[in-house]
Amino acid sequence: MTLLAETVPPTARFRAYGPRHIDDIAVRYGLSAEIAGTIRALARVLPFRVNEYVLEELVDWSNVPADPIFQLVFPQRGMLPLADELRLASPEPSFIHRIRAGLNPHPSGQLRNVPIVDGRELPGIQHKYAETVLYFPSHGQTCHSYCAYCFRWAQFVGDTDLRFAAPDPADLVAYLRTRPAVSDVLLTGGDPMVMSSDRLRAHVEPLLGVTSVETVRIGTRSVAYWPYRFTTDQDADDVLRLFDQVIAAGRTLAVMAHFAHPRELATDEAQRALARIRSTGAIVYCQAPLVAHVNDDAGTWSELWRRELAAGAVPYYMFVERDTGPHDYFKVPLARAVEIFQAAYRTLPGLARTVRGPVMSATAGKVVIDGVTDGFFQLRMLQARDPALVGRPFRAAYSPSACWLDELHMDCTTPADIAEGITG
Ligand code: SF4
Repeated sequence: MTLLAETVPPTARFRAYGPRHIDDIAVRYGLSAEIAGTIRALARVLPFRVNEYVLEELVDWSNVPADPIFQLVFPQRGMLPLADELRLASPEPSFIHRIRAGLNPHPSGQLRNVPIVDGRELPGIQHKYAETVLYFPSHGQTCHSYCAYCFRWAQFVGDTDLRFAAPDPADLVAYLRTRPAVSDVLLTGGDPMVMSSDRLRAHVEPLLGVTSVETVRIGTRSVAYWPYRFTTDQDADDVLRLFDQVIAAGRTLAVMAHFAHPRELATDEAQRALARIRSTGAIVYCQAPLVAHVNDDAGTWSELWRRELAAGAVPYYMFVERDTGPHDYFKVPLARAVEIFQAAYRTLPGLARTVRGPVMSATAGKVVIDGVTDGFFQLRMLQARDPALVGRPFRAAYSPSACWLDELHMDCTTPADIAEGITG
């Protein structure tokens, strides 16, 4: 008897499949022994989780292994050096630990963003930009499925030293009361929408008592990975009531939805989920990284942004993949990223040109590449740890192969404070 459910019924109860289900998945979908062996080995290091909806509704099994959803959810050969993959067939724990430590678990200086109050680090909180605080509720530090390119993969590997997590919002609320400049709180993870509505309420409601908080953002990939969260899950209606409550309290509720491929918006269930979310008055902003093997062509992004707009959502960010996890497998050179962004952008109706990109979420802040002229990347600080840097342009020598900010050579005209910010 298989460990997997038979199919995905419309009123499915969520159930996560992890490494111990790989053999069953391989049998059900006819994966070769070699592919299954690679997934099994790499899943010892990289987080692996999938569910019935992703397996049945999103992956195109007739196109495996090239299928983009298969690529983004299942560990693949090439994500780690082959010698490591082979050794992972029966590894000692210290080897797994060593590989993870070498995968840059906290990119872009995230550890520097943890506030320290009275000599104590506040767990599960990051404060990088003046107006926005990130909050990691401890029960929201998993996802309905995992993306192999995730820059937060360290949240999922069971190593508490690598994990951001707050047990309750007490520290956050106390912190916010002393920081009236903070208008936005982003609940993030993992995915806060894995929490029951009661748990989610316990983390959100206290924020409504802080008058300076104007916008509650929820970072989620649940519409793509488990849209039933907003439609037929037992507490789906209660989730929407909570959204209503936030808006009735005079706050903006922004659902920061992660869609990496247009197929994720093509199902009836995803469309129903978006319609229900929007019916509360919440605004849906869409963002995703540009990753090789998944969405590294202009046609895919054009279709993605058009589908988002058609669903009443706002195309927001195309990110450059961060230097973490299996970065070498997913990275796209900045030169190519600009080409893809611009080619896709040109096809859009004006209302979809809300999207910004390609954007590097770097230690100093968010750097957008506005284009290439005269042998230079034209760069601009979209957001910055130091507000004085926001909106300011600078440039770096064009490189056909650079994949991240630290691989670029800044022009000598770069203002000193920007140069210091991006190298600091
Ligand atoms: S849904 Fe987001 S947090 Fe979860 S694995 Fe994917 S990228 Fe990471």
